[in-house]
Amino acid sequence: PLLFAPLMALIYTRLGIEAFLLFALILVTASLITRHLAFTSRRLARRVKELDSLRAVGQALSASLDTRTTLAAIYDQVVKLMPAHSFYVALYEAETDEVSFPLAIEDGAPVEWRPRRAGNGLTEHVLRTRAPLLIRENVDTAVQALGLDSIGEPSLCWLGVPLLAGPDPLGVIAIQSHASAETYDASHQEILVTIAAQAAVAIENARLYGRTDEALARRVQELGSILRTTRDGILLLDLDFGVVAANPALAGLLGVAQAELPGKALLDPWPGQAGSLAGLIGYTAAGLAADCANLAQGHDTACKQTVALTGPGERHVERTLTPVHDREGAVSGWLVTLRDVTEEIEHAQLQEDMMRMLVHDLRSPLTVIKGSLDLMGLVHAGGDNEKFQMLLDMARRNDDQLLRMVGDLLDISRLEDGQQPVRPEALDVRVLLEETVAGFGPLFASAQLDVETAVEPDLPTLHADRHLVERVLGNLLNNAIKFTPDGGAIHVWARPDLDQGAGGILIGVTDSGPGIPAEEQARLFQKFHRVDTVQGRWTGTGLGLSFCKLAVEAHGGRIWVESEVGQGSTFVVALPSATG
Ligand code: ADP
Repeated sequence: PLLFAPLMALIYTRLGIEAFLLFALILVTASLITRHLAFTSRRLARRVKELDSLRAVGQALSASLDTRTTLAAIYDQVVKLMPAHSFYVALYEAETDEVSFPLAIEDGAPVEWRPRRAGNGLTEHVLRTRAPLLIRENVDTAVQALGLDSIGEPSLCWLGVPLLAGPDPLGVIAIQSHASAETYDASHQEILVTIAAQAAVAIENARLYGRTDEALARRVQELGSILRTTRDGILLLDLDFGVVAANPALAGLLGVAQAELPGKALLDPWPGQAGSLAGLIGYTAAGLAADCANLAQGHDTACKQTVALTGPGERHVERTLTPVHDREGAVSGWLVTLRDVTEEIEHAQLQEDMMRMLVHDLRSPLTVIKGSLDLMGLVHAGGDNEKFQMLLDMARRNDDQLLRMVGDLLDISRLEDGQQPVRPEALDVRVLLEETVAGFGPLFASAQLDVETAVEPDLPTLHADRHLVERVLGNLLNNAIKFTPDGGAIHVWARPDLDQGAGGILIGVTDSGPGIPAEEQARLFQKFHRVDTVQGRWTGTGLGLSFCKLAVEAHGGRIWVESEVGQGSTFVVALPSATG
């Protein structure tokens, strides 16, 4: 105004009152405009600062999943926008009905506030009402008016906003001034509400992440302790056969350090060993690839095999390979487990040895008994004591049966051990079948069984051990007679094995007996297995078919049964021919 006074005086004296008034009006308008512009520019600058801060809050909050970092970021941004002598974030836990203070700052320094049970303070009021609360002055009076308890230090101005990320409030952000009243106004409240909205989402995410992280850590710990304590060796591989995880039991079985295993390739040479890690678990590269391809195509769910490890202690393990699937069901890796079966094998071997010894030792006394019975028969030949003869026959029959059983058992264990010599010779199938069938003539006759032999013409000669093949056929015929009711039919046949071209011959024994249930068929060839539901003319030992299987397999052949209950049975033997 001082600057304009001489000018105004000059205008007034020279141009008169109208010009003076006009000029004064222009001056007032100009100064009003200038003032308004300055005010708007200040507001704009503040708004820009606010928005900038809010953007920074958003960035800072989305950058972390850790609750403490998130809270520190909230504080940093709040103090940039408003004075906060006291600042705190309260979180409410509904399960325990407790309020905790993960961040509290007094005059710029963090302070520890212990968690407490939810009470009736300003924080709880904001939690309950889910609405912001601004008390610009006389905080104590306002607290009383709201019927609340004053908790903590008295303040002159208080602003609190709820943290809302869902239906239930997570907590409260509050700032207070101990220095002066009227520190905060509606614009501060608006900014704090905006910050709280972002903060609530970040806190909720951090909490959820924390829970998931905790659950995951617990799960990892559980799995870790299972891996550590299990006695089976466990090896987890990726699709390229790289080791993902291995447990101490596996390292122990292989005689390697567990820490060395992760990250190693199964097929690479293993330091200090002649072969690879795969070799240590009894795999060749081709064998492993074949097993994996088989499993990946879904032919099998697991490949199981007993292998002898080259590691310490010469352990025998049952090795199982199973595919690991991802959520979509695609194969994402491989799991190899090694179960130590050394003791089981040793035990079974011991049992087997004992049985063989026992059976072997049984043969001598039985042979002596047989000889004695024969002698007794000779001594009393022509005698008229009928009862004596009957008892003698019974003793002979039973002795014969026992001797046969002992013989079968010995043959089976010799075949199992590969100790039974197989001496193949060229055999005429027609002659072989006819002679064997003829040997059973009396039995066929007594059971009134109709027997028919059919050999296809031009069949090549058989290349097999005469003695063994005769016994196989004998066992099959014996079973056919035993299980076919009187008046039934037995068909003995031979034809080329078309699957083997000219190289194989199929010999079959078909009967019109009771047939064999499907679920029993695979087990028939196991030692001592008998089908409970099938009654024969006389009881057997359950050894005949297991002898047949071993004898046929010793020739490189196969034996199987085709049967349906009520439709009879056909036992088929595939053996190599002399031209094969
Ligand atoms: P065994 O005849 O001495 O009991 P095998 O090993 O020869 O022993 O046969 C095992 C079982 O298979 C028999 O007990 C019987 O249950 C069943 N079986 C074998 N052959 C036939 C057949 N031709 N018909 C029906 N069941 C049979």
